Amino acid sequence: MVRITAYGGVDEIGGNKILLEDRDTRIFLDFGEPFGMAENYFVDFLKPRDRFGLRDYFHFGMIPRIKGLYDADWLEDTDMKHVPPEFDAIFLSHMHYDHARHVRFSDRKIPVYLGSTADTIRSSWEFTGASVDFREHDYRTFRTGSKIKVGSVEVEPIHVDHSVPGAYGVLVHTSEGCVAYTGDLRVHGPRADMTREFVAKASKERPIAMICEGTRVSDTDKREVLSEKGVEDRVKKLMATHKKLVAVSFYPKDVDRMRTFRDVARASGRKFVVSAKVACLLESLKGDKNIKVPDPMRDPNMLVYVRTGMPRPYAFEKQYMDKLGSSDHVVDSEYVAKHQNQLIYHTDFSQLAELIDVNPSPGSLFIRSMSEPFEEDDVQDEVLKNWLSSFKMDFHQAHASGHASKGEIFTMIRAIAPGVVIPVHTEHAELFPRCGRKVLRPLPAKTINIS
Ligand SMILES: [Zn+2]
Repeated sequence: MVRITAYGGVDEIGGNKILLEDRDTRIFLDFGEPFGMAENYFVDFLKPRDRFGLRDYFHFGMIPRIKGLYDADWLEDTDMKHVPPEFDAIFLSHMHYDHARHVRFSDRKIPVYLGSTADTIRSSWEFTGASVDFREHDYRTFRTGSKIKVGSVEVEPIHVDHSVPGAYGVLVHTSEGCVAYTGDLRVHGPRADMTREFVAKASKERPIAMICEGTRVSDTDKREVLSEKGVEDRVKKLMATHKKLVAVSFYPKDVDRMRTFRDVARASGRKFVVSAKVACLLESLKGDKNIKVPDPMRDPNMLVYVRTGMPRPYAFEKQYMDKLGSSDHVVDSEYVAKHQNQLIYHTDFSQLAELIDVNPSPGSLFIRSMSEPFEEDDVQDEVLKNWLSSFKMDFHQAHASGHASKGEIFTMIRAIAPGVVIPVHTEHAELFPRCGRKVLRPLPAKTINIS
């Protein structure tokens, strides 16, 4: 009997924590943080007290109480006793917070498997002082083609296309047959061929179960969704006769979107200006032969923006600040202000104040170009609107999702033809029976037996 228990990602988008057990082997597929995790009890500066480990998380049921999973440090000030690990491995499908962030709580003796590109992204985060510290673990990397034996199971990761590089679906070969897990995926992105490869391999295995994401499985998929190429075409059209600054905002780990805007810059004779943090991620990925990323310090159509007057800059930012004046690839607000009609300027919400010095001339474009459903925030949207109207900027949107549509998900399920479908990472599991296969809706922390 193979047992599957979802501790997160049930009737919600994100927070996947899926336990798969076969005989005595116990592995987790993803270990993410739910998007809305703390919002009922914690907001703004009111945060769980990490100095007491998991005490506040347990109190509000924000994280499951599972024996033999968490590190001694995190349990010290709680009513749960630390015992030696009772899990064999954690596999991360990709480095989005909602799939990976809670790994920081896990026992450091439990190996954490992730794609090698995903591991580069993890280290780059640590370097750029991102708000999450994944902490030291026994990280072990894989690529497509790897077969990882853990107890009675063999895990076979296969790359998929998603809005972050280094994303995988996995086939878990158990003693009862194969269980396929999609992670997050799409078939309209620039590397749709990778997702198709996953689907082809999975269908060959005739899986006994398929744990399937359903972010966009809904009868009202409200937001218009373009392909990556569609984003490029839309932006080119918006810019065709435009003679002022073009500012863009998008998820700063979406490497495909960076490439798209670099391409638009090249086609329009402009330069694409990215923040030091984005530049740092691109530079750390350039050694990875398997993905093509633009090099911001060499690409003739790219520049790196540094904030001036930073009293204590992070090391990653300082390395670019030190080159201001000596490298023609590093610029500041004064340069952007003077060359508005020659630039595409990337900004994100937390750096909006830089616009005060950039001083976009009235009628400049602001293009919001998202890839994930969670990037919407009513309060931020209101504030952004106020900023744009104060600068008299012209607001447009061009989104390409990181996720397959309902129709694409159902086509994928039919092609793989699993014995049973277990929908996760969705708010509409009730729609899955329309795919024509047997569906078992998971309940939080309730085990599903599969044989
Ligand atoms: Zn994702």
